[in-house]
Amino acid sequence: MTNQNLLAIAKEHGSPVYVYDAEKIESQYKRLTGAFNKVKNLRINYAVKALSNLAVLQLIHGFGAGMDTVSIQEVRLALAAGIDPSKIMFTPNGVSLDELEAVAKMGVQINIDNLSILEQFGTKHPKTPVCVRINPHVMAGGNTNISVGHIDSKFGISIHQIPHLLRIVKNTGMNINGIHMHTGSDILDIDVFLHAAEILFDTAKDFKDLEFLDFGSGFKVPYKEGDIETNIEELGEKLSKRFNAFEKNYGKPLTLVFEPGKFLVSEAGKFLVQVNVIKQTTSTVFAQVDSGFNHLIRPMFYGSRHEITNISNPKGRERFYSVVGYICETDTFATNRRIAEIAEGDILAFSNSGAYCFSMASNYNSRYRPAEVLFLDGKAHLIRERETFDDLIKNQIPLKEKVKA
Ligand SMILES: *Cc1c(COP(=O)(O)O)cnc(C)c1O
Repeated sequence: MTNQNLLAIAKEHGSPVYVYDAEKIESQYKRLTGAFNKVKNLRINYAVKALSNLAVLQLIHGFGAGMDTVSIQEVRLALAAGIDPSKIMFTPNGVSLDELEAVAKMGVQINIDNLSILEQFGTKHPKTPVCVRINPHVMAGGNTNISVGHIDSKFGISIHQIPHLLRIVKNTGMNINGIHMHTGSDILDIDVFLHAAEILFDTAKDFKDLEFLDFGSGFKVPYKEGDIETNIEELGEKLSKRFNAFEKNYGKPLTLVFEPGKFLVSEAGKFLVQVNVIKQTTSTVFAQVDSGFNHLIRPMFYGSRHEITNISNPKGRERFYSVVGYICETDTFATNRRIAEIAEGDILAFSNSGAYCFSMASNYNSRYRPAEVLFLDGKAHLIRERETFDDLIKNQIPLKEKVKA
């Protein structure tokens, strides 16, 4: 995707607009499967919550991936994208028994992450195969908001509760066909990940009817040149060896599952905004754009740093800018950022805008959520229209009578 492609998309579809590069998603998919090519049965389930547009689900499914979902609505999106229930996994946290039962009824593999619901589900549906999510209590990440394997985490069944888990399985006669862990985003140290994997192997040997081991995700992607990222190739080599050895010992074929979101789509996304105002103050130069944390919340919410380039004037002399939004509340995208000289009307492109960007967008300040475009085979495909005023008022019910003073 060149700057010219992006400028043409902004011109045709307006701004703000999210653009996803299909080629990049595919190369990431191939990089991951390539790293694990020594594992006989590998399955990649794309984490739908990262970017849940139907066209993106269809694209990634086309590469051979299944889907990892966290709500019944995501399951329905995957089904609407034409994906078979047998290719969908449901990995929620803290949902009701009703929701789990409804999803299991659709023929989707369910994953349960607490003993209370496990006991209730197993008692009512002992024949439905269930995966269990364990918490190995391993810290694998920087940002505490997205580290989910540690001791205070609400996710998973603690490994210290495995005896209780086994008792529930025995008493209900239920069938556990998978063990899962997801230690959270940002795997920087492969040894930490492998340590968690050893805990999963150790747990798995007590279950006799397993079909798969799911190692979750948390692969870190670079946000800028020189950033540390998960060394997928090294992880692939080391984990494949251990997995193959475990499978041999286990005596039955097992599938190795991953459920990446960010790794597949983060770098493929560009968010295009237009500069409304250049505001010189006594302390900085603000570039105010036609968007805000309503459309891209990551910088304010996680402190994430998205590279910003001025694609209207890429060769311009670099100057320092604070890039801010138009929300009536502080919404800073970047401060003291060196960007090629910006004029009002220029189009800026934010990098790493594929994962957890559109999917976290809201209508705050009663703004429309942006359009989405998939750049596929050299062509721009509009895959979501920008919202309209009708979308904003669609579910609202105005009072019928005049309000008295
Ligand atoms: C969010 C999530 C993922 C995806 O995580 P990434 O860091 O985006 O790869 C995978 N599995 C589960 C259970 C999740 O909740």
